[in-house]
Amino acid sequence: MSEGATKKEDKPRKFQAIRGTRDLLPPETALWNGVEQTAHEVFATFGFAEIRLPIFESTDLFARSIGAETDVVSKEMYTFGGFAEFSAKVREGRMVGTLEEIAPEEMISLRPEATASVCRAYIEHGMHALPQPVKLYYMGPMFRRERPQKGRYRQFYQIGAEILGGPDAPAIDAEVIEMLMTFFERLGLQGVRLDINSIGDKNCRPKYVELLRAELLKVKNKLGADSQRRIETNPLRVLDSKLESEQAIIEKLPRIADHLCQDCATHYATVKRQLELRGVVYRENWRLVRGLDYYMRTTFEITAAGLGSQNAVCGGGRYDGLVELLGGSPTKGIGFAIGEDRLILSLQESGKAAPLQGRDVYIAWMGEKAYATAIRAAKDLRATGFSVELPPIKQKFGKALGQADRLGARYALILGDNEVSEGLWTLKTLADGSQQKLTEPDLLEFLREQKPVSS
Ligand code: ATP
Ligand code: MG
Repeated sequence: MSEGATKKEDKPRKFQAIRGTRDLLPPETALWNGVEQTAHEVFATFGFAEIRLPIFESTDLFARSIGAETDVVSKEMYTFGGFAEFSAKVREGRMVGTLEEIAPEEMISLRPEATASVCRAYIEHGMHALPQPVKLYYMGPMFRRERPQKGRYRQFYQIGAEILGGPDAPAIDAEVIEMLMTFFERLGLQGVRLDINSIGDKNCRPKYVELLRAELLKVKNKLGADSQRRIETNPLRVLDSKLESEQAIIEKLPRIADHLCQDCATHYATVKRQLELRGVVYRENWRLVRGLDYYMRTTFEITAAGLGSQNAVCGGGRYDGLVELLGGSPTKGIGFAIGEDRLILSLQESGKAAPLQGRDVYIAWMGEKAYATAIRAAKDLRATGFSVELPPIKQKFGKALGQADRLGARYALILGDNEVSEGLWTLKTLADGSQQKLTEPDLLEFLREQKPVSS
């Protein structure tokens, strides 16, 4: 025996999913598929088509669009490539200087969101030449190195949509929100609340931000460390604070609604009227700012029941300058991203479990002659849409029926050599144990009249 072969440390390591990532398993995956199918259907009725995007992009794409000062870009991205030591610097947040100085080779990052990619694709494929606006949706995993907790993961999934090009008509903002509400209603999501706000544009927002900064500086020593830092980096984000001790202070801060320029004020008022025309119920929330830099004017967030403090299931807003910022021509834009993990959690909390996915038919075959018939029966039933389990090896009758039960099968089709030679097949309904003997065509006909549970 070779030395150490029995040592404990030689036991193969048992791997676990990386912190902040998780496996989605059946039967839950059926719920995920249902949600995604509903998105495909509802979004199509509003004229959206799917875009599939790469999982990683140039780091610079995210730095430019989301903003280098945001939490997402400054500390949450999975970045690699370039020289190893530079990658490490970026990962550890010791990134100083421009990306070009740090890493002459291009750095790439796992996408923390997909709006930047959609805009990049819009420019890259000359979509401005298509009939405007272009309406696209996507779904897939996003990556952010955040502290994992309920409803917050490092690999999470978003379903999002973007409208690029065309006018910035408030009806577009209202319709995209209407689509979201339709989607959530179709899913039966509980406790849905829509918050909206306008955060102004490049004419009025900078002045408001300066005013806010000045007011925040006056109360700086009453604020927590995060907010103190944000006075410099991103004062709007202070409004987002959930810190109990800061709430009374924030209530007294100047509100953007009082500082919108005429165009933004009109735009916002029309968005609200357009929502009312569509019967969409909203709540105005002057403290609603988005975490990503590119938003302007309309912003919105949707919360749902059963999620604790991670209760935002969707965030979105208008981002008219983004395509231009990424090297395209001036283009209007608005979109949203739904956190699919949280959406599913909320559905589960309100009792919308995945439908049980039992088999329809378990074929209990015995004997070689019966096996050939069983293969044929399985093929016929599957072609009709039934979920069929055909055991790959010979089994005793009792064991076969036990297995059929465990798989939640509705019927056991019993095929022994007798059945085959008599031409009469036995069908057992597992719920009540009743049995019937039928000819092959009658039995297949009988089953075809039943609705497959798997559909
Ligand atoms: P939050 O304030 O909850 O961190 P956010 O403002 O960072 O959200 P967005 O970047 O607007 O979120 O993304 C849209 C949606 O994606 C969120 O409303 C949320 O449902 C979901 N989401 C964002 N980050 C995560 C994460 N780490 N895990 C799971 N879902 C997430
Ligand atoms: Mg976040």
